[in-house]
Amino acid sequence: MDPDTCSAKGCQAPAAWQLQWNNPKLHTPERRKVWLACDDHRGSLSDFLGARGFLKDVVPHDGSTPPE
Ligand SMILES: [Zn+2]
Repeated sequence: MDPDTCSAKGCQAPAAWQLQWNNPKLHTPERRKVWLACDDHRGSLSDFLGARGFLKDVVPHDGSTPPE
């Protein structure tokens, strides 16, 4: 298994945050997709999801929830 890394394109930094999101056109309301983010990309990735109304939660990544 690879260590968890940031979901930003080309970024190999270890993930420090989970961005939990849901696209209501594709997912049931209780479904959560997860992007991982390093400290540097937490802002840009959450802005991307937030601008589309998809972002539900941002929590510290402790490795307990595997990304989809
Ligand atoms: Zn990153």
